[in-house]
Amino acid sequence: MAAKKVTHNVTHVESTTNSKEELLAVTKKNAAPYRIATVILWILGLVCEVFAVLFFTSKLEWGVLCEEPGHTIAWIAALALDLILVVIGSLLWKKANHTDPASKKDKVKFWIQNNLGVIIAAIAFIPFIIISLTDKNASKKDKTMASIIAAGALVVCCLFGIDWNPVSQEEMLTNAGLYDSVYWTESGTVFHAFEDCPHLNHSVNLFEGKSADAVKAGKTRMCKTCQNKLAALAESGETVEKSHDDQTEAGTEENTEADTEADTEANTAE
Ligand SMILES: [Zn+2]
Repeated sequence: MAAKKVTHNVTHVESTTNSKEELLAVTKKNAAPYRIATVILWILGLVCEVFAVLFFTSKLEWGVLCEEPGHTIAWIAALALDLILVVIGSLLWKKANHTDPASKKDKVKFWIQNNLGVIIAAIAFIPFIIISLTDKNASKKDKTMASIIAAGALVVCCLFGIDWNPVSQEEMLTNAGLYDSVYWTESGTVFHAFEDCPHLNHSVNLFEGKSADAVKAGKTRMCKTCQNKLAALAESGETVEKSHDDQTEAGTEENTEADTEADTEANTAE
């Protein structure tokens, strides 16, 4: 086996997490500031949309804003601010969802929580598009410009609002409770089952400890490469050996085996 030798400086972390309930309590507390900030930013974003509508339809008769270019600048600026606030809110919302995920058992809540960024993006721009297109006083040129700009902003907002990699409470707890020895780095967002994971090749200083403590340190899930490797090992019935072998090609169908097993274990542990 042509193993690439990488030496790490591993710091062992003494476990401070006793139970899944405790872990859930910690992560829940941590997510609250993000959620509050998100709600404030989204509300401010929607206020900006209202101003964009008022400026565009010339409902606000503020001298300079009734004439060009003040009028155009005003509604574009309001839309731009709307975009910035909603995007920052969506990023914080995703951060909160990864810290304190929804349970997969409640499918509706899980879907809404993980797609709220997209829903808010729609609310933040579609009403403006409809109102600007149906405004009787606006010129055709203004209507076209308004709908193109708002539609572009909507697309950008949706791209930031989508959680491409949503985490469920079950996944987080499974990850947290299952593994006694995992590795993570100070700056990383995931933890690893194998010290010789290729993603750790460039990191000199590693922490080693229970996955519950990795989650506490903000690493909410296991890295995909390690997950695939574990799944492949479970499938082949091999024991986990820590060697750097060929890259696993389990592909996009990740974590089915490992997670099912882990779920069973998590349930019986109650
Ligand atoms: Zn890894």
